[in-house]
Amino acid sequence: MALIVQKYGGSSVADAESIKRVAKRIVDTRRAGHDVVVAVSAMGDTTDELLDLANEVAPIPAPRELDMLLSSGERISMALLAMAIHSMGFEARSFTGSQAGMITDSQHGAARIVDVTPIRLREALDEGAIVIVAGFQGFNRDTRDITTLGRGGSDTTAVALAAALAADVCEIYSDVDGIFTADPRVIPKAQKLDHIGSEEMLELAANGAKVLYIRAVEYARRHGVLIHARSTFSSSEGTYVLGEGMKNPREAEGAAAMEEPIVAGVATDFGQAKITVAGVPDVPGKAAEIFKIVAKSGANVDMIVQNVSATGRTDISFTVPKADSAGALKALAGEQTEVGFQNLVHDDQIGKLSVVGAGMRTHSGVSAVLFEALSAGGINIEMISTSEIRISVVLRDTDLAEAARTVHTAYGLDGDAEATVHAGTGR
Ligand code: ASP
Ligand code: MG
Repeated sequence: MALIVQKYGGSSVADAESIKRVAKRIVDTRRAGHDVVVAVSAMGDTTDELLDLANEVAPIPAPRELDMLLSSGERISMALLAMAIHSMGFEARSFTGSQAGMITDSQHGAARIVDVTPIRLREALDEGAIVIVAGFQGFNRDTRDITTLGRGGSDTTAVALAAALAADVCEIYSDVDGIFTADPRVIPKAQKLDHIGSEEMLELAANGAKVLYIRAVEYARRHGVLIHARSTFSSSEGTYVLGEGMKNPREAEGAAAMEEPIVAGVATDFGQAKITVAGVPDVPGKAAEIFKIVAKSGANVDMIVQNVSATGRTDISFTVPKADSAGALKALAGEQTEVGFQNLVHDDQIGKLSVVGAGMRTHSGVSAVLFEALSAGGINIEMISTSEIRISVVLRDTDLAEAARTVHTAYGLDGDAEATVHAGTGR
């Protein structure tokens, strides 16, 4: 008998029928003899609808009240799910985040989990009940207020529960089949991965892959939680996300050890914009000034490139999420004379392509494959950056999909069949 934590995303509990389907899945797990703890998201687009409603009554809703409002979405789904399970003849008990002992800091809208004290969950499990927990929310001890963890926070709730209860596995259910070598909507020949290292998963998520939330993967990595990302809409196995030193459960079951591929996947990101600060005086301290201004505007800088200076001036280009670029531009323009640069150029027609693989550490020539593939495709590279296990390039956005397909093929990642896409969002 195992203790299994399951997380169901909003698309898995979008209506009464879906809730019943999820209830059956939970009951089946219970019938197989396991203890089950479920973290559930708000139904369908409930969170977005509540946000819209808040914005209709107030231009800037008070953060405390916004959390009171948004946390109610998950309370609806948790109670309905528990009722659906009751009607199948099983004992289930739902708990809000604070009842479940999800203790956070006091940052409304982006609270971080500081402790999990699942006393009531343990009691319920000991009494044979299936436990349902409202995802995405917690409680701060100092303010004694309800908090939420930020969009997509139910993944983190599930992983934190799995860690606190020492669960055997944390199954994250969504409307996609698992983690793919690329986004199947961009690359139809993308293949579902059997498993992936958590480090690789973090790089893919940070560079455009949307299946799992970064914070949940980080939490799992730090606390040694085994994640199994799989689909609510099929019974096939998904993808295991393995932390350091973790064994692939399928190999433990006797499957032959698989050779690790050098490259795990290709990520595409259409969400970045490029800002160029042109004609920056080439003297010490200018980069510091520029990026302090950008940081103060709240923009999250990704890639940075500085050109060699020929004339005592240089150009510095960097990328930021599209949503952050207007703020960064405005902040920089406001300090043009102080910094002494000549002008600003904004370009939001870019796309970022990233190749991720832990094998890059030990294999040479991995980047050459990328550059050759892009060159053969006649695709121009505008920026390059690398980490130990990732190579990213910035291209024209109109080239990105084609480039990704070419590169996916070049690394031998193409599957035999086209991936089935259920038009899923991964939530
Ligand atoms: N309902 C929240 C959201 O839509 C949390 C979640 O789904 O994980 O962001
Ligand atoms: Mg949601």
